[in-house]
Amino acid sequence: MVLKNLSLGEGRYATIDADRLWRRHVEMARFGATARGGVNRLALTQIDIDAHVVLAQWASERGFSVFVDDTGNMFIRRVGSDQEAAPVTSGSHCDTQPTGGRFDGIFGVLAALEALDAIEDAGLVTRRPLEAAVWNNEEGVRFTPSYMGSAIYAGGIALEAMLAATDSSGATMGSAVQALKAALPNASHRPLGTPISAFVEAHIEQGPELEAAGDTIGIVTGMQGTRKFSIDVTGDEAHAGTTPRRHRRDAFVEAIAIVNALHELFHDADDTVRFTIGQFEVFPGALAVVPGRVSFSIDFRHPEQETLERLGNQVEPLCQRIVERCTVSVNEPSSAKPLRFIGVVPEVIERAVGRRGYPYRHIYSGAGHDARHLAGLCPSGMIFVPCEKGISHNEAENASPADLAAGAQIIADVMVDLANGD
Ligand SMILES: [Zn+2]
Repeated sequence: MVLKNLSLGEGRYATIDADRLWRRHVEMARFGATARGGVNRLALTQIDIDAHVVLAQWASERGFSVFVDDTGNMFIRRVGSDQEAAPVTSGSHCDTQPTGGRFDGIFGVLAALEALDAIEDAGLVTRRPLEAAVWNNEEGVRFTPSYMGSAIYAGGIALEAMLAATDSSGATMGSAVQALKAALPNASHRPLGTPISAFVEAHIEQGPELEAAGDTIGIVTGMQGTRKFSIDVTGDEAHAGTTPRRHRRDAFVEAIAIVNALHELFHDADDTVRFTIGQFEVFPGALAVVPGRVSFSIDFRHPEQETLERLGNQVEPLCQRIVERCTVSVNEPSSAKPLRFIGVVPEVIERAVGRRGYPYRHIYSGAGHDARHLAGLCPSGMIFVPCEKGISHNEAENASPADLAAGAQIIADVMVDLANGD
């Protein structure tokens, strides 16, 4: 994608409405509001569907059209002068963690919608259509894996298996998508993989760098690679009172030995490796029963592919070496290579930030985002805005109206430039 017409766009930008953007954050935070000021809005629950319906209403009021695809992604479209042209799309997700905050995800959705509204207010005509996307199930809490909507859309994972994914009550992802479609009877069907010419995502930083530096915008340079493992250690359940140690196959004892060895393996002096065991379950989990099975997860992230391979490839051999009486199985349900955002989108972002004069820095993303998957489909990029003390995935998550407005302004400017490029 070449932006040789970029100069034609100079001076023809829309000014976003900071009050409207903030009001909408307040309104959206009601959907799933928790007593401690956070948000609990799991993917395609009734609360999340209600939030989608309100977003679609806001879109319809401006004459924008609404589309839903087979994996529950929603798209809000403002027409361009060239109806055949693939759209410029911005957006993020509106699901949250169970004790999530008011800004993670929804900010990127509202920034994209505000961009469309501001461009409509200004009466600008763009060549390409503009779209605000709401990617389904980014957090991966109700259904796993995470980034489901964007990954399926970009072709990273197969639709059928994902629609069969179930939540803790046994409801399938497929039935949840049908419930969303039923709640949006006026939305048109959007085929998966419909081309997108470029994608840009705004998100709160979820880290402390921008706030500490006094910067308003982070231009995201890339994202860590990740490898996720699930490990099952299997022994024998036995009576806690009658079974001597020499006869036990205690899955807990051997799992702990593995965990300690893993922590040694993944220890690095410069503290770049991100290694987390966030799930650890003991079965049957009874006071008087020697554990017959332990399941635990590994979430391993690093900016360099070489390290991801070198350390990640040692997980299974290490587990096999450590177990004595039990058996161990190691699975790797998902992985992603480190990603660099290069090319037209970060270039256009940098020019937009320069024009507006916002203090900024280049920043690396420790977290994963939907833009990871879109980057496999089209030129992509991301911006961050500061969040208070870097706190996120937490009910205390906070961001300032002024910073959110600056982020939305950059999204509006970038969408205009990209939509008028080739
Ligand atoms: Zn997010």
